[in-house]
Amino acid sequence: MSEALFINVEVDASVAGDLTLARKLEEVCPVDIFAADEFGVSIVTENLDECVLCGLCLHASPPGAVRVIKLYDDGALLAA
Ligand code: SF4
Repeated sequence: MSEALFINVEVDASVAGDLTLARKLEEVCPVDIFAADEFGVSIVTENLDECVLCGLCLHASPPGAVRVIKLYDDGALLAA
């Protein structure tokens, strides 16, 4: 199953091409939800439901740049 059931993660288009941020997100997420490449950051969808809601990605990025969406909780956002 590759589709996330419980969690979705979005990176705002304004920062998705930021290579420094991409590498930082790839580094901080303990369950490899972010992948950095030469184009910026992408989301590894098959890992989404592994999210442990640690908030490290929120702290590593500008306010509002990354959204961790709790699909199981009516789409509530994880607070930084
Ligand atoms: S909250 Fe933690 S586990 Fe979830 S995407 Fe962010 S860094 Fe990864």
